[in-house]
Amino acid sequence: MSIPQIAHFINGQPSAGTSSRQQPVTNPATGAVTAQVALASAAEVDRAVAAARAAFPAWADTPPLRRARVMFKFLELLNAQRDTLAHMITAEHGKVFTDAQGEVTRGIEIVEFACGIPQLLKGDYTEQVSTGIDNWTMRQPLGVVAGITPFNFPVMVPMWMFPVAIAAGNTFVLKPSPIDPSPSLFMATLLKQAGLPEGVFNVVQGDKEAVDALLVHPDVQAISFVGSTPIANYIYETGAHHGKRVQALGGAKNHMVVMPDADLDQTVDALIGSAYGSAGERCMAISVAVLVGDVGDKIMPKLIERTRALKVLQGENLAAEMGPIVTDAARQRIRGYIDAGVAEGAQLLVDGRQFDGAQAGSGCEAGFWLGGTLFDHVSTEMKIYKEEIFGPVLSCVRVSDFATAVRIINEHEFGNGVSCFTRDGNVAREFSRRIQVGMVGINVPIPVPMAWHGFGGWKRSLFGDMHAYGEEGVRFYTKQKSIMQRWPESIGKGAEFVMPTSK
Ligand code: NAD
Repeated sequence: MSIPQIAHFINGQPSAGTSSRQQPVTNPATGAVTAQVALASAAEVDRAVAAARAAFPAWADTPPLRRARVMFKFLELLNAQRDTLAHMITAEHGKVFTDAQGEVTRGIEIVEFACGIPQLLKGDYTEQVSTGIDNWTMRQPLGVVAGITPFNFPVMVPMWMFPVAIAAGNTFVLKPSPIDPSPSLFMATLLKQAGLPEGVFNVVQGDKEAVDALLVHPDVQAISFVGSTPIANYIYETGAHHGKRVQALGGAKNHMVVMPDADLDQTVDALIGSAYGSAGERCMAISVAVLVGDVGDKIMPKLIERTRALKVLQGENLAAEMGPIVTDAARQRIRGYIDAGVAEGAQLLVDGRQFDGAQAGSGCEAGFWLGGTLFDHVSTEMKIYKEEIFGPVLSCVRVSDFATAVRIINEHEFGNGVSCFTRDGNVAREFSRRIQVGMVGINVPIPVPMAWHGFGGWKRSLFGDMHAYGEEGVRFYTKQKSIMQRWPESIGKGAEFVMPTSK
């Protein structure tokens, strides 16, 4: 049986690609290779950029209301196909089906936001800035923009980018993660069915070679990136060096502070869901619990019990709470962190290394499985505290007071998400004001902002000035132009040599 080939989508058509480079796509639950994905060469990237460039003038000229109508149609198709997309995510990423449905829904919300583009693009106008002169600002699209996205949200993260970029009048080249490439092609066909003109949305599958071709391409005006911090840093520096507007969202180490007055059962539910949901492979997953005062002794027995009881099963099983790890390499990396935690003296209370595929069900023996892992007495010098593990490992740090909790979080290099569980309004207020993190939850473990608020971390979790989606997204994908106008009737006689001021 021949194995399916996954390739590109360029100028409104699936494109087989000409590069001989490819890599296998696996189902992480079983370990089976399900397809081969093409890895684009620089020449193929050039072809996609050329298609996007050719499509730009007509698309930018299309009235925003008509662009919005394409988005409305796309929204309708997405709603009809949401489970198809969710199954695709589970098959290549491994996350449980209900979580994949949630991912699709959060992506759809950005499309709903982008449907409002006529309102979002409205400019400002001042009549009579000087006698007979009016001044207004408007926002215009940039041209060809590119998105480079990670494996962990193959639908939602591309949708943080392209609906807003396209609705604003840009044309788009998406370079998805080669680990789970299928949903990107499916979204491209839905956009085509929705009536999007050829060349407005293109997909190039690939790795570093494709990314580097986009970063230096003279016809690419802006890059949106989401992925790990070292690559985000590289994208930001290289893209900026080549004159592009860049937003590069990086890695995370998200803390949850648990105050002594927090409701313990609610807190345990929140910690278990946010640490182990999607096997911890979320940039907003909670990976550190900061237990204040006597909370540690009270909460630990419950955490141990719930971590041991996690239902780790194939994602298509509706009873599953957690699926496999995305690749064998990722599983080995996470195991390495667990080994390091033990070696550095953290107390290992639940050891996910003991879990194997046979426990997940028949057919899963060769999959990439790991159970939930719980460490207590983790200190801020340890590697498992400092670095992003990106797996189902929860590290508990005990501190004596609130001020220490805030200090260690503010000293951490990452600043993506954070949460505080408390019943005390003043603690909540102080926490929100003093914490050096971009997205804050009060009794909300994973505070991913809604579509119209925008998403972005601080410190080494975001390189660039603007957050993804929301009004920040509209600003990122447009440039402001200011126009000042008067008519011959109001122009005085003679050359003016002094700085004009309002008359
Ligand atoms: P990654 O950095 O390995 O890959 C992201 C993208 O960059 C992919 O498209 C990949 O093909 C490309 N890439 C990888 N290596 C490259 C290189 N050397 N040169 C150029 N391009 C390269 O990230 P990942 O493993 O796919 O995703 C997980 C990471 O993404 C985690 O660190 C997670 O925290 C982060 N993430 C962050 C956010 C956020 O909003 N801040 C959201 C989701 C994921």
